[in-house]
Amino acid sequence: MAVFFRGMDARETLALTRAMVESGVRLDLKGLGKPRVDKHSTGGVGDKTSLVLAPLVAAAGAAVPMISGRSLGFTGGTLDKLESIPGFRVNLSIREFQTVLEKTGCAIIGQTEELAPADRGIYALRDATATIECVPLIVASILSKKLVEDLDALVLDVKVGEGSFMTSLEAASDLAQNLVEVANSFGTKTVAFLTDMSQPLGSAVGNALEVREAIETLQGKGPPDFRQLCEKLAVRMVLLSSPGEELPRVREKIARLLESGKALERFREMVAAQGGDPRTVDDVDRLPRAINQKTVCAPRSGWVMAVKARQIGSASLALGAGRRDLDDRIDFSVGILVHKRTGDAVEAGEPVCTVHYNREEQWALVQGTLQAAFHIGEKRVESPPLIKRMVEG
Ligand code: URA
Repeated sequence: MAVFFRGMDARETLALTRAMVESGVRLDLKGLGKPRVDKHSTGGVGDKTSLVLAPLVAAAGAAVPMISGRSLGFTGGTLDKLESIPGFRVNLSIREFQTVLEKTGCAIIGQTEELAPADRGIYALRDATATIECVPLIVASILSKKLVEDLDALVLDVKVGEGSFMTSLEAASDLAQNLVEVANSFGTKTVAFLTDMSQPLGSAVGNALEVREAIETLQGKGPPDFRQLCEKLAVRMVLLSSPGEELPRVREKIARLLESGKALERFREMVAAQGGDPRTVDDVDRLPRAINQKTVCAPRSGWVMAVKARQIGSASLALGAGRRDLDDRIDFSVGILVHKRTGDAVEAGEPVCTVHYNREEQWALVQGTLQAAFHIGEKRVESPPLIKRMVEG
């Protein structure tokens, strides 16, 4: 509570982070013989970048040991998305995690009891005392779970906008600056990108739909905004973890790994190594599919002025794609495909999104919210820049 009211300086935040890292097991991954790098996103709507980045950066030659989280509220979680692949296991032991990393260069698991246990305890206390919203405590919490991974480098994606928990650029910049400073002081080369979360990232929102879109992107396709962000983050992950590499060469390499199917091949290997059905990767119809689909259409012609990420996220939650409480069950098959972005022209009656749902009452529950999420006006507006800025140490 004292920290909540008085804050902490960088040295104090680093000390807390270190104590939290040291409260449990720290991985030793030097034996992999490769640079080790990870990415952390503060979470948003339609953010499925981890599914692309882990295999993509592993295919580029680095090791990506990812410890990820679950969906809560209107934002999604990587672990739930992966669990929509039949058989995929995210609860590997540390030994199994290391074996998958040796085999495929990437693995994605959930936090175990042994990793940064102090964070669990402190987070529960903060939850009960309404002290979650406190930058130094958020910094120590996020970084303690990443810094146990024995990383050479870390790329942070701090989301800004109403589809994330930092809605103003100032607040997000402050968080990014603090994260970068503490992680670099810890000895892990770290940069942060501030990226737009006013509208959903890509088109798909909902677990199996997002896996499908990640696979399309790994096939060298996928929505341009999502692919652009994946490429940008992947390039930075390689540059930071492999000194001596040059920007134009790395850019070209990353684009080639997507075009050639090499990154997709790595994803298939990771899926198989974590118990998932690798046939899903080549036949996405094996993913859970909702029974019904209906489109929401534009009530009039004009320009899309805004696509409200938080409303899309809330609708997805109402369909059952997310959880309000940690023990809620998720329906992997449901979600929303967003067809229009801010700045697009739209005709009256044209579909702006498609809802995938299972029970008739779900449609009635989300139809109004989704209609209201698309603001249509007479004036053309520019789509907000996807990447607002980069914060370096
Ligand atoms: N995510 C975390 O892991 N911890 C926080 O405190 C906030 C977001």
